[in-house]
Amino acid sequence: MKFWQIEAPHYGSDYKSLFINGLIEHPYNLPSVDCDSCGQRFLADHSLPYECPPAFRKKISNSEALTIEEFENITEPVRRAVQKIGLRKEVVQPRCFLLPSFLDIPSKPEADFLWPSSGFSPLVTERVRGKLESLKIREIAFAEVTLRKVGKKSPKLPAPIPSTGEPGDIIGEVSTTRFPKTGHTYFELCVYGRSGPPPGRELKSVCSTCGNKDFNWARSKELVMTESMWTGLDIFVLETTAIILVTDKLKQELQKLRPTNVEFVEFPSSR
Ligand SMILES: [Zn+2]
Repeated sequence: MKFWQIEAPHYGSDYKSLFINGLIEHPYNLPSVDCDSCGQRFLADHSLPYECPPAFRKKISNSEALTIEEFENITEPVRRAVQKIGLRKEVVQPRCFLLPSFLDIPSKPEADFLWPSSGFSPLVTERVRGKLESLKIREIAFAEVTLRKVGKKSPKLPAPIPSTGEPGDIIGEVSTTRFPKTGHTYFELCVYGRSGPPPGRELKSVCSTCGNKDFNWARSKELVMTESMWTGLDIFVLETTAIILVTDKLKQELQKLRPTNVEFVEFPSSR
């Protein structure tokens, strides 16, 4: 069985990457939790397709760490909402990002995939979303991103180099439209499924109070993905990493779309 990592193409420069993909901001998130049993602070790094109620935005994102009971109470409506769209309630974790999220992109967004933050989920177009939905892919969701600043130039043009030399400053130095009404819609592809842990990173313990997982950490081992680690999902995160993998079957389905700005790289690399 083959697995493929989906990732951004190599652009040759950070300017080009920034120009094509932009930057995403997630200003709102669920509170963090301090666990009395394991002493761990839970930190999730995924998004939920859940709009943070305006009245709670400041309060919820600036909240002190909560106890598990407080967290369970405050997030009850979030769990109900995600279950309604077919997700497991366990995807609601401390520090999860909520909507709205904002994309600032210095060029005109045209690609099927955007990578506005390294080590984080890609954004996809309606057409990619439609494909994944028609295939009934499990353990994923789509969180619509608000396009906040959008450039006017084709992403195929050479990337401008800002006066400061900082790639992140490109957006401030090109002409952009704020909250454009027309154009593409993009969705963060939220991937919740996971593989088993790779060799060298076996599960040591699970906290019975908060569910926090403690893994072994063998530094020298090279990461692999094998059939015995597979949990039956077509798209998933390699446990203990941020690497998104797809099965051969899903890769073939996605490639029928001839999607732009994405690469499928065999994992682990056969070279
Ligand atoms: Zn715990």
